[in-house]
Order: sequence, then C-alpha cells, then structure tokens
Amino acid sequence: MMKRNFFDLKLSDLSGVLSDMDPKPFRLGQVLRWAYVMGADGFDLMTDMPKDLRDKLDEVLDLSPMAVLDELRSRDGSVKWLYGLHDGELVESVMIREEGHNTLCVSTQAGCGMGCTFCETATVGLRRNLSLGEITAQVAYAIRTLEGRNRLRNLVFMGMGEPLKNLDALVPALENILDPSGFDYSPRRVTVSTCGWVPGIVRLAKEGLGVNLAISLNAPDDSIRDLLMPVNRKYPLAQLMEAVRAYPLRPRQRITFEYVIIGGINDSDEHALKVAGLLRGIPSKINLISYNETSARFRKPEEGRIEGFQRVLLSRGCLATIRRSRGEEIGAACGQLRALSKGTVHAGEK
Ligand code: SF4
Repeated sequence: MMKRNFFDLKLSDLSGVLSDMDPKPFRLGQVLRWAYVMGADGFDLMTDMPKDLRDKLDEVLDLSPMAVLDELRSRDGSVKWLYGLHDGELVESVMIREEGHNTLCVSTQAGCGMGCTFCETATVGLRRNLSLGEITAQVAYAIRTLEGRNRLRNLVFMGMGEPLKNLDALVPALENILDPSGFDYSPRRVTVSTCGWVPGIVRLAKEGLGVNLAISLNAPDDSIRDLLMPVNRKYPLAQLMEAVRAYPLRPRQRITFEYVIIGGINDSDEHALKVAGLLRGIPSKINLISYNETSARFRKPEEGRIEGFQRVLLSRGCLATIRRSRGEEIGAACGQLRALSKGTVHAGEK
C-alpha cells in the first residue's frame, strides 16, 4: 500500500487518524511537535511514544514524501533544492540567508501557466497544482535542514507557480502553517506573492488569514505590463489596484510591490514617476530587484540605474528598497533549477 503524505493531512484529520490508533489526547501534540517543530523525518525518532504506535504510523504515513534530487549552495549562503514528486514532476524551493535569519521561498505549482516573458518557469508551462502536503513538505524539509523551526523566520510563496491559482491547496497549507499546533507562524512572517490574479486576491482577502500580500508589479503602465505579464491583458492595472486597495491590512502592515528592473524596458525616471503615481494612497513598500540575466531576450539595467529609479520613488514619498540579487550563481530566479534538470536551459548558462 502506498503511504500517504503526512503533510497532506489537515491537523483535524491527523487527530482522527491518531485517535483510531491511540486514544490518548496528548499524542497529537507529540506527533506535531516532532514533525512540525523539530523536523523529524521518520516516526522512529519519536522516542517519547510507544514503539507499536510509531510502527502503525509508519505503515500508513510518509514524513519524507518528496525526494531531494539536487541541492545547490551559493556563496552567499542561499540553498536551492530540487524535489522529485511521486509522479515524476519536479519542483523547487530556495532558502535565502540574510543577516542571521532564513527565508524560504515556497513553490505552489509544478511549472506555471502565467507566461511572464522574463521568467524561466514560464517556459515549462503549467504541469500541475501541488497538493497541500507537497506545499507544506517544503517547509518541513527546510526546518529539518536547519534543525529547528525557530531558525526559519519567514515564508514567502513566490517560488515556482502562481499561488493564487492553487488556493484550494494554499489555504489549508496556510492554516497548518499559522496554527499554533502546526508550524505556528505569525501571519506577519508569511507572504503570498501574486503576478496579479485578481479573483485570487479577492478570495484571499475573504479568507481573513492576515498574511502579507506581495504583488509582482514590474511595469509602470498597462502597455509595458502587457508585454511582460500576459495576466495584465485579463486584469489590467486599474482592476489590480482596486483589488489591492481592498485587501485588509493591520495597522502598519503594508502591501509589498516587487519590481524587477530590466535594462531599457521599465527602468527610466519617467517609469519611476508613474509607479509612484500608481501606488499613491496605498500603504506599500517597493522592492527593486535587478533582472537576473538568464536569457538573451532581456538585459540587466545599466550601472547606477536602480539607484536612480529609487531616488525618484523616494522623492515622491514612496518606501523603496533595493534588494540585492541573492543566489545568482545557483539560478535563484524561479524555475531555473528545474529547467536545468530537464535540459531546457543551455548547459553553458549553469
Ligand atoms: S513570474 Fe511567477 S507567475 Fe510569472 S510565469 Fe514565473 S512563476 Fe509564473
């Protein structure tokens, strides 16, 4: 019998499975502490539980449901894992090390169907949605590697795929991530990033989970955004900004806008002025990121251009920061590891 992915169980379902095997109410807390907080990769490690219970759990549930096929480490401490799923699909997550803490970039789909023209994952197309367990197992694996939940501070759903196109798995995954008996993350430490899938923003707002919202903006107006991100033809900036303005925020919480600066495309002072206009009145911060040059189609901005872009935004009262490109030599832009493994990227680019 094929074992079930442990992380596919909502916490309430796990409670049901356990009580059938051992009715003691504290067993659930024990299993969750081992699996979610300590990152145990097998039931045999749960030595404060009876052996026959551990054996029974091991017969039906798999704590290591995804094989790590490749691991790349960059000089700046970032790590990228490529996972093989049970049906042969590939997915990846990236852990970024910054000033004493770690952030995990989690994937929600194998491939992606959104077709952003600057993105390596888009060349794969959408293979399939990930399950609840395939999403949360990425978090569990990073915790395991770090040897403790407390060492993984932030989770960002901006790996492979469009998270808001897989809300049926993402919402229960977020519930397990936020649950004090589960991974116990504060919603302040969890960010969902979208390319601008407006119905998903509306639904996420209704779910009331309180997680941070990030928008991959990348353009100052519809004509440039249409060119870079096909989603904009369906949901242009006016509709996107309306949904963003309606997203509920706590006091001092801000919407994050990611803006990849691509040389000669979206990087002029005039573009920066338009971006400032778009964000007027929205509690926001803008992360400026240099394009991570992966194809001949686009190029990095000229030296000093990002700083110039930032100056214009700051002069208009925007909170704008420059994010250093991390993990560049391991291809930390989304989807590149999978593309390398499948041989769709020229070997010389590795
Ligand atoms: S940038 Fe994100 S949404 Fe766009 S194609 Fe790549 S993975 Fe999909």
